[in-house]
Amino acid sequence: MKRGDIVQGKVVKVSFPNKGIVETEEGDRLRVKGVLPGQTVSVRVKKSSKEKAQGMLLSVDAPSDLEMAEPSCIHFGKCGGCTYQSLPYEAQLKIKEGMIQDLMAPVIGEDVWSSTYEGIKASPSQFGYRNKMEFSFGDEMKDGPLTLGMHKKGSFYDVVTVDCCKIIDGDMRRVLNITLEYFTRFELSYYHKNTHQGYLRHLLVRKAQKTGQILIDLVTSTQISSLYEIALLAGWKEALLKCPDWDGEIAGILHTRNDREADIVFDEGTEILYGKSSFKEEILGLSFTISPFSFFQTNSLGAEVLYSTARDFIAAGADGAEVYDLYSGTGTIAQVIAPAAKHVTGVEIIPEAVEAAKENAKLNSLDNCHFIAGDVLKVLDDIKERPDYIILDPPRDGIHPKALEKIIDYGVDSLVYISCKPTSLARDLEVFQARGYQVKRLACVDMFPGTYHVETVCLLSNRKPDSHIKLSLDMDEYYDIIEKEEAEKK
Ligand code: SAH
Repeated sequence: MKRGDIVQGKVVKVSFPNKGIVETEEGDRLRVKGVLPGQTVSVRVKKSSKEKAQGMLLSVDAPSDLEMAEPSCIHFGKCGGCTYQSLPYEAQLKIKEGMIQDLMAPVIGEDVWSSTYEGIKASPSQFGYRNKMEFSFGDEMKDGPLTLGMHKKGSFYDVVTVDCCKIIDGDMRRVLNITLEYFTRFELSYYHKNTHQGYLRHLLVRKAQKTGQILIDLVTSTQISSLYEIALLAGWKEALLKCPDWDGEIAGILHTRNDREADIVFDEGTEILYGKSSFKEEILGLSFTISPFSFFQTNSLGAEVLYSTARDFIAAGADGAEVYDLYSGTGTIAQVIAPAAKHVTGVEIIPEAVEAAKENAKLNSLDNCHFIAGDVLKVLDDIKERPDYIILDPPRDGIHPKALEKIIDYGVDSLVYISCKPTSLARDLEVFQARGYQVKRLACVDMFPGTYHVETVCLLSNRKPDSHIKLSLDMDEYYDIIEKEEAEKK
């Protein structure tokens, strides 16, 4: 097998995030992105070295036995959003479970895995579950008609209109359709990522699953005359408001300016065209006001499963305790835990989310939550109350190594770690274990049907290590740390 060769093989395994192992008839193995277990695929060899052979998927020549005759979504294959829409939901869950086991068992030990793993919990809805989407304006082929939707699979520039997307509900599809139809009528260019010219950039749509409230935000550059823009946006607003078909209700229609070159939704100024700039959602009986750019779990019903799982893991641990909710977003977990705790301190880096957390706690009549805006790494040095219990829900990259050291230094008996990226969790668990913590309970929650993403919830307890746990740190170094800690405790 040489670089540039085209080979055929069968996918024998997939691993997180979206990597498969393809085995050829000659027994060669390559890593290939974007394949499903059991598929027969043709692949161009990119790297041929024995250990790290890699290939690029050219075609799926025979489907996997796991796949359905028709994918659930007509955009599947073209749209870069989902990876598993050709699989029945049960098969998706099995694959996610397998990927987590492959990552976790070597780190925590096969025996710990089998005694602590509690299974994967399904999302209450397989379809229409998302409460937030960021659609991009673009075209599907050069100089083709305006499109609004998701990036085409494997493409940086092309955008596929996803008017039949299955992971959003009818109202969100309606917002997309009305907006695309409206702006197609005008000679307006979308913002080109290479030339940085053009007006239309993104459409942000958020819809609460419980309250039905919808928040719509059009993100554009300022490359337009302001008089023309006023008339244009007024027309767009009217088009949305005059639609008689909404299942929910429009809470707000917004316009955000963004002239930054990076292809992300960035707020350089937001004006309200209609209603207000936030919407309300309910989670486990609590009410949350959510602003357009605040982090909020994107599957509200799934979030209830996730938070209930975390609450069950925490069990009596937080009763009467000083609890830290680190990486607290809009303060959801803090507020779910607050009724049992003495006091909860939430730490979150986005000031807007912290403000929302404070308001939400007030709205829910919780007066024992306190939220601090700042980087966990720095804020931990300033908080006076020491924690009895810690809840961690970091972003994808996991916990900064120095912040992790500070967290472990508190020496709390138990903590709960919620992770949206199992590879980061596996890395952080190695450090926790090396410092005497051990996994006590572990469960997965599927918040993202149709995609390869999965949440993992993990209960850790502080105790001396067993010799059978494989540690990445040198054992002498490790015992030095433990001895020092013991001495400090005395
Ligand atoms: N627990 C919340 C949010 C989890 S997402 C919930 O369930 O809704 C992770 C959060 O960590 C995001 O809100 C992000 O803004 C925040 N974050 C990222 N890096 C951070 C840091 N260094 N310090 C504090 N917060 C951070």
